[in-house]
Amino acid sequence: MAEEPRSDCLFCKIVAGEVPAQVVRETETTLAFRDINPQAPTHVLVIPKAHHPDGAALAAAAPEIAADVLRETGEVAAQEKIAGSGYRVVLNTGTGAGQTVFHAHAHVIGGRGLEWPPG
Ligand code: IMP
Repeated sequence: MAEEPRSDCLFCKIVAGEVPAQVVRETETTLAFRDINPQAPTHVLVIPKAHHPDGAALAAAAPEIAADVLRETGEVAAQEKIAGSGYRVVLNTGTGAGQTVFHAHAHVIGGRGLEWPPG
């Protein structure tokens, strides 16, 4: 079950239009906007409009919306013209992995060479 929008959640506020964002794509269930602190020439976040704390929780509670988010990462890559050169989709999950915003989001990162393993 999707949780109600949270007044203390930054990304819920972006969905509600209470915090501005550079939106690049929107669907009925998802929003994609530019990361405020880009780590590459293209760095876009794709989020479900409904509040779920992370990607795993989203997939467990609403697999169809998780699929929407994943599909949209590909649409963003195509729109940003990074699909051909390769790009990375990242779901930081938990503070130990660097998650700082606890509303599920997929980073779409590209436009430069990306090393593996990540830091
Ligand atoms: P996380 O560290 O995986 O949770 O990713 C959260 C991301 O949200 C970080 O890359 C931040 O730069 C980004 N971010 C934080 N505040 C904003 C904002 O207001 N607009 C867009 N991106 C943001």
